[in-house]
Amino acid sequence: MVLGAGIGGLSVATELAKLLGEKHSVTLIDRKPRFYECAYNLGIVSGELSDPTAGEGDFSVIASAGIEFVHAEIRNIDVSGMTVQTTEGDFNAEFIVISMGAEMSPSIIPGLAEGGHNIYEKDGAVAFRHEFERMESGHVAILITRTPFKCPAAPYEAAFLTDSVLRQKGIRDRCTVDIYTPEWQPMLSAGDAVGDALVGLLSEREIGYHTEHMVLKVDHEHRNMMFEIDDAGYDIMAYVPPHIAPEPVRQAGLTDSTGWLPVNAETLETKHHGIFAIGDIVSIRLHNGVFLPMAGVFALQEGAVVAATIASRLGLGEEERFAGGGYCFIETGGGKAAMGSGNFYAKPAPAVTFEPPSEEHKKTKDEFSAAILEAFRARR
Ligand SMILES: Cc1cc2nc3c(=O)[nH]c(=O)nc-3n(C[C@H](O)[C@H](O)[C@H](O)COP(=O)(O)OP(=O)(O)OC[C@H]3O[C@@H](n4cnc5c(N)ncnc54)[C@H](O)[C@@H]3O)c2cc1C
Repeated sequence: MVLGAGIGGLSVATELAKLLGEKHSVTLIDRKPRFYECAYNLGIVSGELSDPTAGEGDFSVIASAGIEFVHAEIRNIDVSGMTVQTTEGDFNAEFIVISMGAEMSPSIIPGLAEGGHNIYEKDGAVAFRHEFERMESGHVAILITRTPFKCPAAPYEAAFLTDSVLRQKGIRDRCTVDIYTPEWQPMLSAGDAVGDALVGLLSEREIGYHTEHMVLKVDHEHRNMMFEIDDAGYDIMAYVPPHIAPEPVRQAGLTDSTGWLPVNAETLETKHHGIFAIGDIVSIRLHNGVFLPMAGVFALQEGAVVAATIASRLGLGEEERFAGGGYCFIETGGGKAAMGSGNFYAKPAPAVTFEPPSEEHKKTKDEFSAAILEAFRARR
């Protein structure tokens, strides 16, 4: 039974369906009727995607892969009974994979939702694009509210793409673009080489970068962000909301002091035998003390590893281990993307290299996003 049909859940469910054949059943549960790949939000911001539904996939096609899809809200996870209570009834299973991602919680910060656009949701990305498309001059703020957040590159990409659009419009000299973040450098877990390279790219584009800025409140009427140390005005604001673990996971006592779900870094098994967790919900501490970033590229691989492990426990094939390899593309505008890639499990710290922006990397990024949606389209 797979809880959550996002990138991780789809990865594990489709792999399991292939490995287990018809002898076993795979159930996939999600409250959403359709899949949406949030990486497409950046195409909405840049204007590359005029159709906001381009990143959607249809869960009904999953059935033809031998997976039972249940459209329901997961209410409770009973780890000792291996049972899950949902709005469509109770389900139990021999193995459970929790892939419920991170929940967006803008309400934690007073005035945030009223004062800006949540670019981590499709509608927020569309509204941000509409608002800044009409601007002729002013101050655009990209606000990172709390860490951790998924896709550590995404707000930086949003800033680069905003800058690029304003340049194309010929109004960049009448506008300012600034990032405010509680981080002390971009993409913390990728290390100093990637962080320094990104700071260089921000500075080249005259994007203001305000680190160690933890927002406490937004005065939406006066368009003012209040931080612990100072405050800043804006005309248009795009924000990354605070992320929290979904309530049923917290209620089940599965989270630790980080607020997230600890797992074995290689097998992705929780402390409960037969219950695994993958993707954004997990906390995996790296050798330098920071955590594995929340990214689809990890969720995909973790799903394949867990599927192989479950299959092997059912006498079908060999177990696999997650080795911490990953990569991330960073769109920098003008049809280009930079790339960070490496081994996040390296000792004493992640070994991640940075490759400067190129059209080739942008093409590969688009192919990566399209490949995820291909899982739906192939069976249409
Ligand atoms: C703007 C943006 C750009 C990104 N770009 C990239 C990129 O280029 N590369 C990359 O690797 N990653 C990228 N990511 C990150 C990537 O999207 C996530 O890391 C990935 O989706 C995590 O997969 P997941 O399965 O853990 O969670 P999700 O994909 O979030 O799936 C969780 C699922 O669980 C369901 N769920 C949660 N609670 C319940 C409940 N109570 N009942 C029923 N269902 C529930 C949700 O509906 C959801 O479908 C980006 C993210 C954003 C926001």
